[in-house]
Amino acid sequence: MTEPRVVVIGAGVAGISTAYVLQQQGFTDWVVLEKGSDVGGVWYWNHYPGLTCDVPSQIYQFAFAPKPDWERVWATGPQIQRYHRDVVDELGLADRIRCDTEVLAAEFDDADGTWTLTLSTGETMVADFVVCATGVLENPAIPDIDGLADFAGPVVHTARWDDSLVTDGRKIAVIGTGSTGVQVVSALQPGAAGITHFVRSPQWVLWAPMGLPQVGAVSALFRRAPGLLDRVHRGLLWGSGILADIVTTPSWRRRAVQAYARLSLRAQAPARLREDLTPDYEPLCKRQVVSGSYYRAIRARNASLVTERITGVEPGGVRTADGRLHEADVLVLATGFRAHDYMRPMEVTGREGIKLDDAWADGPRAYRMTAVPGFPNLFTVLGPNSPTGSISLQFSAELSAKYIAQWLTRFRDGELATVEVTEEATDAFNRQVAEAMVPTVWNTGCNSWYFTEGGTIDLWPFDRKTMVRMLSRPEDADFHVRVPAR
Ligand code: NAP
Repeated sequence: MTEPRVVVIGAGVAGISTAYVLQQQGFTDWVVLEKGSDVGGVWYWNHYPGLTCDVPSQIYQFAFAPKPDWERVWATGPQIQRYHRDVVDELGLADRIRCDTEVLAAEFDDADGTWTLTLSTGETMVADFVVCATGVLENPAIPDIDGLADFAGPVVHTARWDDSLVTDGRKIAVIGTGSTGVQVVSALQPGAAGITHFVRSPQWVLWAPMGLPQVGAVSALFRRAPGLLDRVHRGLLWGSGILADIVTTPSWRRRAVQAYARLSLRAQAPARLREDLTPDYEPLCKRQVVSGSYYRAIRARNASLVTERITGVEPGGVRTADGRLHEADVLVLATGFRAHDYMRPMEVTGREGIKLDDAWADGPRAYRMTAVPGFPNLFTVLGPNSPTGSISLQFSAELSAKYIAQWLTRFRDGELATVEVTEEATDAFNRQVAEAMVPTVWNTGCNSWYFTEGGTIDLWPFDRKTMVRMLSRPEDADFHVRVPAR
């Protein structure tokens, strides 16, 4: 038996799931490296006002760590972050996680089949396997707007919020209309002297009572009956299968949700703004925004909506194409993420010196979310084609981690030294993906962060059963396996 040395990069949803699986399966030589000062991933980095998860808490949680007593049906960011800390502590994973440790580079050594990692602490670390659990929505996208650096007041990206920033009583400009922009506008509007929301493309906003508490009696029942909690979780996972079906297959269900989005706009948006707030693409095409408060916030007297194109930022505010200067004291960038970076800016060098940046010049390309040709013994959890917005992320992360653990077990059993997915299998998977993308709602004529540089859609177009089938057992024919030298 040769115990594999495993480095997991990232301690968010993907990293915690991987850590749990490694612990459960009795691996002993592994560590999780996290560049942030705490676990949680996006829930550590994002702490902007109004942050709430628009996926119900009873499904946005690990199956191996069900929480009976969420305070709200849709938990807030701080509640979810606390949950991640509790899970790590209660499962005894904390000692395995090194925070404030960024992996700057990872290089594969062809001769001995190991990875050498260069860390921000100045150390190097050698591993047999690297698992990149680095997340999808990690690196903030800073827009290239003329004069941004000249703004006189604070400029803050929502994913790097400054908790000391005072917004009450000030004039706030918010750029971006995704899930984040809608949440931050709703939260900042009541205290602001004025809030201007710059909308380049309006989004459909599904109305939902996001502040709904989880009734105490329900929490008490779940605490007393863990079996029931488990059944509810499974039921919700099954229900999320319907959601996956809605976005991937045209049907009456999709039309019903789209009708509800149109109804939310008609019923909630102020008549004077309805035209400006109406998208020119189908509901669900972009990642669906859900809010119970945005339309109310944007029709308030201190709020204004600007659809005119931004031409530049000046010390005193934001200039638009009609020549107007929209005065502001604080500029909030809710401009999203470089969603296809994955483990980058880490510099990854694989077999024969292949650089990940070159391999992914046209956008990320992987096999079943987990493996990349040219990069032996390197796996991804919630990697390319992860089901952001359809199937539960926690479910996919745990499933991927268990799949990867099968390769680690074979290493431990002396059956392999290195494993690398083939180009052919990766191409075949990507052809399947492209074909399955055709009828998806994401392909109905909108521009979103789902699209890669090469124009492919970086999501999971199949159902949950297909995911389970693809990630139950590795198919040896899809991999080059090198056996250990005797
Ligand atoms: P996003 O959906 O990518 O939205 C970015 C926004 O910024 C878009 O409205 C975009 O306009 C705008 N924008 C970018 N550059 C601009 C520029 N130069 N000028 C004007 N507007 C510009 O980002 P996000 O809102 O942060 O959301 C990203 C994802 O995070 C979501 O889709 C979701 O998956 C996740 N999220 C989830 C939750 C949750 O509750 N679960 C909450 C927040 C975020 P265009 O549309 O015209 O490009």
